[in-house]
Amino acid sequence: MINMEIPDPFQTFIANKYANAKGYIHDFFTGEWSYKCLTCKEDMSAPSRKIMTKIRLYHTRNECLNGY
Ligand SMILES: [Zn+2]
Repeated sequence: MINMEIPDPFQTFIANKYANAKGYIHDFFTGEWSYKCLTCKEDMSAPSRKIMTKIRLYHTRNECLNGY
């Protein structure tokens, strides 16, 4: 049997890349990254993945974990 739905290499690359991106979502059209905090469900966005990580860490440390 021939599988006609061969995964596109680029799609596979993106899927693998995002598998360990901690839930970051990249908006291809705006070039922005977004992330929804799993704890408080707050949406965050950043112009790059690096900045997204900074925002996420700051949020987790200073906003989410407050009071715990
Ligand atoms: Zn949060």
